[in-house]
Amino acid sequence: MPPRLDDLNLLSFIVARVNVGIFVVDQQMNVVLWNRFMEVHSGRPATEVEGSNLFDVFPELPKSWLEKKIKSVFLLKNFAFTSWEQRPYLFRFQDNRPVTGGADAMRQNCTFLPVNDGQGDMQYVCITLFDVTDTSVYQTKLQEAMTSLEEVSQRDGLTGIYNRRHLEHHLSHEFNCWRRYGGELSFLLFDIDHFKKVNDVHGHLAGDEVLREVAANVKLEAALLRTTDIAGRYGGEEFGIILPGTPLEGALIVAERLRTMVAAAPVRLRDVEIPVTISIGVAQADTSMPDYVRLIHDADKALYASKTQGRNRVTCYTSSPRE
Ligand code: GH3
Ligand code: MG
Ligand code: MG
Repeated sequence: MPPRLDDLNLLSFIVARVNVGIFVVDQQMNVVLWNRFMEVHSGRPATEVEGSNLFDVFPELPKSWLEKKIKSVFLLKNFAFTSWEQRPYLFRFQDNRPVTGGADAMRQNCTFLPVNDGQGDMQYVCITLFDVTDTSVYQTKLQEAMTSLEEVSQRDGLTGIYNRRHLEHHLSHEFNCWRRYGGELSFLLFDIDHFKKVNDVHGHLAGDEVLREVAANVKLEAALLRTTDIAGRYGGEEFGIILPGTPLEGALIVAERLRTMVAAAPVRLRDVEIPVTISIGVAQADTSMPDYVRLIHDADKALYASKTQGRNRVTCYTSSPRE
């Protein structure tokens, strides 16, 4: 005769064989049921666990948290849930996937179900434990991929420093902070002198190498600055540095240090040495500016003045009447 659904043997069979951890505790935290999944993963047979206090058998469990959780289920007679994102696991079970799986232990989602005795009296709480290691590994990998994608999208491919989009995004943020909280904000823009000649004489690849070397100098300079300062490649051979909390005088010092650093270090390529100089424009945020674009515009004007006055120099934008 085929088994009926209410056949206790059938239910016991399912509870035993299902690929989910199931165990039941009473109000004193004594275990009254311990299924096969729990036996296999904990290495403790039901004969050893059933009838014993859960915390005596597993002293490593987060006792106060788990007790609180189970007591609230008894009290509220309500279902409760915890996900691996809040608490990676309840029992530290080995993850039996290959090492490349990426999780040190099985990740678990848990449910806490109130069980009554048929007369409405709450006597037990049934705890189920789902192995969600795969989900957590994929989610973590996805998160890592998103983070590195975001990082890549902010970087310039040739030099590895921030690209124009990110530099502007950051400048816009700093400008808004400065407007709200006051203080000082300067911006420095520079352009390599006669760079076309570098490409013409030494080739485009040599030009690329010069860009990388200049960017390395910018990075060095940025390292000397506070960590909130941001440097990036603004265009072909133009670079920008944001200097929050820095007045014009401070920005001029930074600019002059950078100019001398670049001029003193010609780029060595195989048997040639390529002298490199830069022209710099510096500007400071002031309250008449409608937005950060104006700050770039002023720095660019000062940069242009450095070019027309002979290159390899620093000019700061002095607030003449704006057109
Ligand atoms: P100036 O002193 O007035 O700045 O003269 P310049 O020769 O540097 O003039 P300009 O700024 O107009 O020239 C920029 C050159 O930079 C032109 C362009 O071919 C070159 N360039 C832009 N991006 C790259 C790049 O990624 N790699 C290389 N090798 N060259 C680039
Ligand atoms: Mg140039
Ligand atoms: Mg240029």
